[in-house]
Amino acid sequence: MSYSPYLLKGQKALVTGASSGIGEAIARYLASSGAAVVVNYHSEGESAEKIVDDIKAAKGEAFAFQADVSKEDQVKAMFSKMFQEFGTIDILVNNAGLQKDSPLVDMSLDQWNAVIGINLTGQFLCAREAAKEFLRRGVKPDISCAAGKIICMSSVHEVIPWAGHVNYAASKGGINMMMRSIAQELAPHKIRVNSIAPGAIKTPINTSAWDTPEAEAKLLQLIPAKRVGDVEDIAKAAVWLASDDSDYVNGATIFVDGGMTLYPGFAGNG
Ligand code: NAD
Repeated sequence: MSYSPYLLKGQKALVTGASSGIGEAIARYLASSGAAVVVNYHSEGESAEKIVDDIKAAKGEAFAFQADVSKEDQVKAMFSKMFQEFGTIDILVNNAGLQKDSPLVDMSLDQWNAVIGINLTGQFLCAREAAKEFLRRGVKPDISCAAGKIICMSSVHEVIPWAGHVNYAASKGGINMMMRSIAQELAPHKIRVNSIAPGAIKTPINTSAWDTPEAEAKLLQLIPAKRVGDVEDIAKAAVWLASDDSDYVNGATIFVDGGMTLYPGFAGNG
């Protein structure tokens, strides 16, 4: 990791869904950039404690907290614990998410509600709690020139329709307008709200898309960069959005997708 341990020094961060994949990498990168980190996880048996141990072994500060981001009482309990342990919050990374795939006609209401509840409502619940604290505390110039930063994990599917994944695509399309509306509302208070929209990244969320040479070759047809992304590609963007280096960036979606949203199927067509 190439980031300065002073970049986010003194800042307190919460990363949801940080026990795996993209969230884990972001938690580790934020910690190595100097932030104290809450490693949120959902289920017993996830590797949150190992991540916390690694951060502490590198002289960082972290603790793990189990909470389902779709449950209001659990989100409130998580923020209470964070304020008790760290005093405040400077950076929220709204990352937790999942897929429950099905053709439209077979999709159950439970599958729909689960994905909207975690991917969209979960981000709303956490953003609301973080924003209350940002507004209460205001800017601390020795910590950051912003009163707070929120990073929403979106997806290329906030713009690319996805057959067989209507719940997921709808949740990410919702993130786009939620993020921009919150950014518009909070910008006058020096709060920055942005999204990262990953393309295909190697994590446990969708292994079948790249775990055989045939599947990977098919996937690469959609990626001009001709490689599947790594979690580090996303974590580096998250550190930048969390830092004052991106102070003039607000309400933006940063696509980190190797060019997937360039619609490469159209190249050379007509
Ligand atoms: P992952 O499965 O490795 O990680 C998902 C994380 O979310 C896990 O830590 C899991 O425990 C957590 N989680 C699930 N339900 C939760 C709940 N109710 N409450 C709290 N945490 C919960 O997947 P990932 O690929 O790292 O996904 C992270 C985010 O990135 C998601 O929002 C996903 O939609 C987004 N994303 C991923 C890709 C990709 O290709 N991997 C592409 C675009 C967007």
